[in-house]
Amino acid sequence: MERTCIRCGQPYRGRSDKKFCCDDCRTEYHNHLRRERERGLRAVNRILASNWKILSAQLRAGHRRLPVEELAGLNFNFEVYTGCRRQLPGRRTFWCYNCAYRVSRSGIVHIWETPVENNAYL
Ligand SMILES: [Zn+2]
Repeated sequence: MERTCIRCGQPYRGRSDKKFCCDDCRTEYHNHLRRERERGLRAVNRILASNWKILSAQLRAGHRRLPVEELAGLNFNFEVYTGCRRQLPGRRTFWCYNCAYRVSRSGIVHIWETPVENNAYL
């Protein structure tokens, strides 16, 4: 039966479970998938590193409370974190590695340092 290679689109003949016309296409296809996965990881890692630098700099400067807009203005990304724990309804603590933070209803971000093993993965 004639099939079409899922990488190069060339027709080929082979077993029904074969997806590629040749080993090069199979290898290149899997390398491409791996590179895409790694690109996604690097993108998240960059955001986490940037967030961590922002929080650490605030702590070093002695700023433990600041308006959420100020953190957003530093390009802090609130969508990406290493841990999250809900204490009371609507009250969550987030972690970026060893930096914990919570946003109060009045829009103030409270930042503090914790041992990294206190990270909550909930
Ligand atoms: Zn091919």
